[in-house]
Amino acid sequence: MTTPLLEVENLKMHFPVKGGLFNRAKAKNYAVDGVNLTINPGETLGLVGESGCGKSTLGRCITRLYRPTDGVINFKGTNIAQLSSRQLLPYRQNVQMIFQDPMESLNARHTVGELLEEPFIIHGIGDRQSRQKSVAGLLDTVGLPARSATRYPFEFSGGQRQRIGIARALALKPELVICDEPVSALDVSIQSQILNLLMDLQREFNLAYLFIAHDLAVVKHISDRVAIMYLGKISEQASSEAIYAAPQHPYTQSLIAAIPNPDPHIKVERVPLQGDVPSPISPPPGCSFHTRCPQATDRCAVAAPELIPTDDQHWAACHLVGPRP
Ligand code: SF4
Repeated sequence: MTTPLLEVENLKMHFPVKGGLFNRAKAKNYAVDGVNLTINPGETLGLVGESGCGKSTLGRCITRLYRPTDGVINFKGTNIAQLSSRQLLPYRQNVQMIFQDPMESLNARHTVGELLEEPFIIHGIGDRQSRQKSVAGLLDTVGLPARSATRYPFEFSGGQRQRIGIARALALKPELVICDEPVSALDVSIQSQILNLLMDLQREFNLAYLFIAHDLAVVKHISDRVAIMYLGKISEQASSEAIYAAPQHPYTQSLIAAIPNPDPHIKVERVPLQGDVPSPISPPPGCSFHTRCPQATDRCAVAAPELIPTDDQHWAACHLVGPRP
């Protein structure tokens, strides 16, 4: 049995909502509310959900851009959830993030060469000459010419900037990369180039990915397993094939039914989602999906379903789903 690279247990990130005369905390935003997941070495776990479901917050907790409210983040057996910035330094070498908008992480006043050299300087790796050699190697790895090093990020197209973001994430040879909607802002033709690049790099460096997306179609080809997130919780988790072939949770079924089918002869029965995602500041009682679920019963409004195994590799949180006989 493979030992997981990352094990997340009952992770919570509750943000205080402040207001009033003295700007006191008057409520909580339950952005991440008790998430469990694992990622194995060299594996891709797709994490899918609508905007505001907490998936990016979860990614930022795992990279420790946020300090979680509660829970465990075991990376290679060490719980890093509450470590200080100083204690986190070795972890930061091993876990990197690729952002939806690479400009978010790239300082526009620095050349690409300076941006790619920076991680080595921060971690005290190599001298000037070896660092420049590494920068040239990184540019080559992501398919950019060596002359890119002297140019500025704004001189590049969106797809090229994402390649720079990927090069920077790979600089310190991480084992886990959190990809936060890395292709959502790109044209469809460029999306497939970046996805292919990520898959090639995974094979070359045995990288593990947490691939965050709001679109199930995007994660289909890149993911070994897929987790579906709704209002701060995982509602279903299974292998990529099982999620698409036999989704068990009504939310997943609606997301899959919404994927456009390129073959006009195949008729798909659509189960449109009703209403908007409720606010994570006051999530509905019982099953948090009951306000939109076409199959909800009275029980769903009062009792929250547990995420239970329905099969060897398939988990779902719904009262209508039980273990297979
Ligand atoms: Fe729908 Fe009830 Fe299942 Fe929730 S528990 S997904 S409301 S049927």
